[in-house]
Amino acid sequence: MLDIQNCTITYQNGIPAVSDVSLSVSEGEIVSIVGESGSGKTTLIRAILGLLPPGGRIVSGQILFEGMDLTKVGEQQMQDIRGRRIAMIFQDVGAALDPIQRIRNQYRESIAVHEKLPQKEYAPRALDMLRRMHLTDSERVMDAYPFELSGGMKQRVGIAMGMIARPKLLLADEPTSALDVTIQAQVVHQMKKLRDEYGTAIILVTHNMGVASYLSNRIGVMRQSKMVEFGTRDQVIYHPREQYTKDLLGAVPKLGGKRFAES
Ligand code: ADP
Ligand code: MG
Repeated sequence: MLDIQNCTITYQNGIPAVSDVSLSVSEGEIVSIVGESGSGKTTLIRAILGLLPPGGRIVSGQILFEGMDLTKVGEQQMQDIRGRRIAMIFQDVGAALDPIQRIRNQYRESIAVHEKLPQKEYAPRALDMLRRMHLTDSERVMDAYPFELSGGMKQRVGIAMGMIARPKLLLADEPTSALDVTIQAQVVHQMKKLRDEYGTAIILVTHNMGVASYLSNRIGVMRQSKMVEFGTRDQVIYHPREQYTKDLLGAVPKLGGKRFAES
């Protein structure tokens, strides 16, 4: 479904933030990208939707999505894809909510750009997703302004917004890292359910090997702008090729998908 081929991305200084990286995602597949801070994970997934920060530029490579090269499509077409086909959850998604609109209105807009859904189905779908995010008082959350919610609540409201429109492909940049461990496990579990129920493919950036191990079909490991390892979940977790991957795995106490899934 998505095929990134030999992508190199630079910022103003011309030094590659992403060097010659290739990555593919099939329908309904969950691919995690792990790696140290500054290794290029955010740059890579923002590039997919043409959302690089100022100065960021794809200097070579292709990003093929449903037969189109996303590095070549115009802004109009990209907006269409962003709305309807591929959703992104940014690292600071809670902070990115519109401060002067109630959550209910933000969800309504988000659903409306994604698909034709009868008005009366908006609220039930939004409430359902909020409950899945373990926001118990979901009616109140719907009517709240962002400043009335805690940081963790805003984060989950933002994650729900990315998932609410049931995109074909969801890009999520460390969506749960600011959440406490129990909530994080629940949110991650809901992302997996989204895939199971709607066939949503997901690219998840995470620095949590436990999360990657629990969720992923395949895992990519980035280091210093390069994809140093990419393989099936079992290959990467149980038979890592790179010392760097072993070090990342070694940093996780008692790694095991089951344990994480149960929490
Ligand atoms: P990660 O998400 O893995 O932490 P990033 O993609 O944010 O890594 O960063 C990769 C590299 O690109 C780093 O060297 C970082 O300093 C650089 N970089 C990231 N964002 C910018 C930016 N807006 N301007 C210039 N350089 C940037
Ligand atoms: Mg990042």
